Order: sequence, then C-alpha cells, then structure tokens
Amino acid sequence: MPELPEVEVIRRGLAKKLIGQTFLHVQRNDKRLRRQSEAAALAALCGKTVTRLSRRGKYLLIQVDDGQTLVVHLGMTGRLFVLPASCPLPSHAHLVLTCQSGQRLVYQDARRFGQLVLYPAGVRPPELAQVGLEPWSRRLTPEWLAQKSAGLTRPVKNFLLDGRFIAGIGNIYASEILFAAGLHPQTPAGRLSRAQWTAVIQAGRRILAKAIRAGGTTIANFADCEGQAGLFAVQLQVYGRAGEPCPVCAAPIQRLVLAGRSTFWCPHCQPAAALAPLRRKSYQTAGG
Ligand SMILES: [Zn+2]
Repeated sequence: MPELPEVEVIRRGLAKKLIGQTFLHVQRNDKRLRRQSEAAALAALCGKTVTRLSRRGKYLLIQVDDGQTLVVHLGMTGRLFVLPASCPLPSHAHLVLTCQSGQRLVYQDARRFGQLVLYPAGVRPPELAQVGLEPWSRRLTPEWLAQKSAGLTRPVKNFLLDGRFIAGIGNIYASEILFAAGLHPQTPAGRLSRAQWTAVIQAGRRILAKAIRAGGTTIANFADCEGQAGLFAVQLQVYGRAGEPCPVCAAPIQRLVLAGRSTFWCPHCQPAAALAPLRRKSYQTAGG
C-alpha cells in the first residue's frame, strides 16, 4: 500500500508533466472503486487546465483552473501515471484523462480499494478533515503527541498507523521509524516520554524524507508515474527482514502481528523492558 513517500514521489512526477495541461477527453470504466464520482460528474474535468498538484497524507489532490479538485487515494494497488500517446492502455484503467499534448493521465487499480472523487470549487473535501498533521508540520511536537496519546494503552505502532494523528505513515514506515527510535512496537502509546516522542518525530522526518529522495519503496506493485520502481526497499532496516541480522547489533529481526499487520523489530535495539508482563504474554512472534 502506498504511504506518504510514495504518494509524494507520484505528486512530484505528475506535477512536472501535468501542470498547464488541459484535459480534452475523459473516459471512465464502469467498475466500482471504493469511492468515486459518477462518470457524468468526472466529465466536468473536460476542457479544464491543471493548475496545482498537492498532497495531504496519502491523498493526492489535482486542482484545475475553475477550482474543482480531484481527490485521489491509491488504496492498496492504485497507480496514477502519465502514458505517452503511443502507448496502449493497461488493464484496470479506471480513469483516463487525455491531455492536449496527447499524453494520458491514467488511474489504474486492480483491487479497486482506491478513490477518485471530484469536488466542486469552494468545497473542502470532508475526508481531508480526518487527516492528521503532516510529519513536517510545526504543530507536530512531542507535547502535542503526548497530549493526543495520554492514557492510551494501544501499541505505539498502531498509534503511528492511525492517520488522524500523524498523516501518511503506513505499515512499512511505522516499523522503520520505531526501529530508528529504539522503541518496542507494543509500547503503550500513552507511556512514551517526551524524549521518546522527540525520537519518533525526528526518525519519522528523516526516514520519510530519505524514502522520498530514493523514489519511494517498491514492495508489491508501487511504481511512480513513469513506471519506475522506488529504490528505498534496499534501505529498509527491519521491514520484511525477519530472521536476518539487525543492521545495528546483528540480533535476528523478529516479526509480530499487531492489529493484523506484520511488524518487524529488533529485540535488542527495541527492548521490551518497558512493557508490562501482562502485555508481554500477548506477543505473537514468528521468525523467518
Ligand atoms: Zn538491533
């Protein structure tokens, strides 16, 4: 599933190709996505010129000159890319916007958990109200996180995945951030000290920025708007590396399942000492 760095990589790539382009033709297939505007509504993009591409969390926003905004979420398998006029359309192309240059903006989504919703000028997309602070927001401070997590017994890993607090962090980067911060993923969020929240913020900013520079992470099918696979996977320290030696201390990386998601951690660098014995019993660990 694309996380913040992957969506940001796509945004930057699309901005170079789309800003100033006018959509001449709108074509949508009839398969349902998780959320989508009707074909007739999307046809309102015809004749409109792209003025801005922005991002909030994992949402990509394509704004056109009359103030309408197409809000895209890639879900599990969504891809958004610009296809040269000469290339045939791929399968699962849900939306094809033909530009005056002849290039086509294509939204492709095999599993159809994504979203394509067009909002009229002046309407604030309601889904964005649920999106938490951007990792680089000045409002994101250890004090803010301590206040939001006060009293919470849910694991800090699950807290990081909850986009209502910090936007855009998914399963891969949550494991990486907690490893860099030296925090066991099951530490109750409400127990983190200010210093530990500081470490989470700093690790998050550093890792996400590095992932964007590397072009995102390709695990299953992420590719940027030109079909380039991201190169960050080779830099992942713990994610997907169960049984391999920790890059810091060489202890075997462990895997556990939290809220149904695989979580990777180093038992030495992310000690469980701070956890209550009761919680320790609930581990579901698995090697290899
Ligand atoms: Zn280690």
